[in-house]
Amino acid sequence: HDYTKDDIRQMVEDENVKFLRLMFTDLFGTIKNVEVPITQLEKLLDNKLMFDGSSIEGFVRIEESDMYLYPDLSTWMIFPWSSERGKIARVICEVYTPDGKPFAGDPRNNLIRVLEDMKKAGFTSFNIGPEPEFFLFKMNENGEPTLNLNDKGSYFDMAPMDLGENCRREIVLTLEEMGFDVEAAHHEVAPGQHEIDFKYADALTAADNIQTFKLVVKTIARKYGLYATFMPKPLSGINGSGMHLNMSLFTDKGNAFYNESGDLELSKDAYNFLGGLLKHARAFTAICNPIVNSYKRLVPGYEAPVYVAWSGSNRSPLIRIPNARGNSTRLEVRSVDPAANPYLAIACVLEAGLDGLKNEIEPEDSVDRNIYRMDAEERQESHIKNLPDTLHNALKDLATDDVMKNALGTKLYQSFYEAKNLEYDSYRTQVSEWERDQYLELY
Ligand code: ADP
Ligand code: GLU
Ligand code: MG
Ligand code: MG
Repeated sequence: HDYTKDDIRQMVEDENVKFLRLMFTDLFGTIKNVEVPITQLEKLLDNKLMFDGSSIEGFVRIEESDMYLYPDLSTWMIFPWSSERGKIARVICEVYTPDGKPFAGDPRNNLIRVLEDMKKAGFTSFNIGPEPEFFLFKMNENGEPTLNLNDKGSYFDMAPMDLGENCRREIVLTLEEMGFDVEAAHHEVAPGQHEIDFKYADALTAADNIQTFKLVVKTIARKYGLYATFMPKPLSGINGSGMHLNMSLFTDKGNAFYNESGDLELSKDAYNFLGGLLKHARAFTAICNPIVNSYKRLVPGYEAPVYVAWSGSNRSPLIRIPNARGNSTRLEVRSVDPAANPYLAIACVLEAGLDGLKNEIEPEDSVDRNIYRMDAEERQESHIKNLPDTLHNALKDLATDDVMKNALGTKLYQSFYEAKNLEYDSYRTQVSEWERDQYLELY
């Protein structure tokens, strides 16, 4: 929506909005909220609202702690749930420095910057259709998540009167009230696991949508006594949660990946974009799979990718080309998980693809056999690399890839790299239950 300041004032009046929730996202993808009373509206509309950035992860040091929030009025939205005192509206903000510059440590600003590269390359829109998956766990009396799943269902199961089904239905209705175009909602393969797909949008809107989506899912789940988690692999032995990203580039003539007379009806741009994605896949894994736990999902046997390969038919590889053509022609990157910061993940896959276009990178041949049935030698013959197997190794790949480092910008890259190495070290130096089970009595 292209709201003017007057539209906003009118909606505040008509809907009795009493609180403003100003949203932005930190380095780790966590949504940050600054809530202010409606008396601050004019200040906000004038880009004069200040906050202390020094406590925000990956943001600023003490000496530069004053930051400004510039509202993106097109993201204005009144929450369908209301408090007794009146309604709460939210608006997504860009973080600015006191001298009026977009703050380089704001992942959303960075995506806006990267989208300029897309425009320079002659495209009008980078479209992203995410498929976020999540688990619903029961909560205990104290409102803390337990590891008890609320159902035993599976893919497309129709369990009548199931708490999870009802909860998911309300999530979908709430999203629709908030303007989401929900295309599919279904039970996933694992018990307690769900997926909700909403219609693709331009990259920035899609990233905003993912953040809003997570907030809505968690809020509604709580109402049902359930805890929604986007942790990539909460339970070993069953499927983890991915967030496949469907993507396409548009020009003013339509979908640039479609070519009726191309191989598989794909254009040269589609193949080069694919080539770029494959080339930078190991490096962008650190961003698209950013936590220690992400790598417990990227293992054979659970529908998550393990190898750097693509296919037009097979579901197992990193990149799949769904059957749809025409304006729905798209590449699906299947490694991404919902712990990823969507602004950073989208910036990285975009720059990877654009690098493919710029350098006319040809992808390796598609792999239409089940890669999991090939042995190491066969994979080597087909030039199939592995995805990184730990956060540590993914970070090493990121550090050697200048295109991906540029996709993040120096400030975000450095903060990310430092923070994630610390995270990995903290994990590495823990002694786990598994180790004691295996070794305590053996040695
Ligand atoms: P899957 O076959 O992997 O289950 P889905 O059909 O569930 O995939 O998801 C399709 C997603 O792709 C939706 O979010 C949809 O809006 C999105 N999509 C459709 N066309 C395009 C396009 N041209 N560019 C990007 N995303 C698209
Ligand atoms: N849950 C699977 C994953 O971890 C994906 C299942 C699917 O294909 O939708 O990626
Ligand atoms: Mg799925
Ligand atoms: Mg998918």
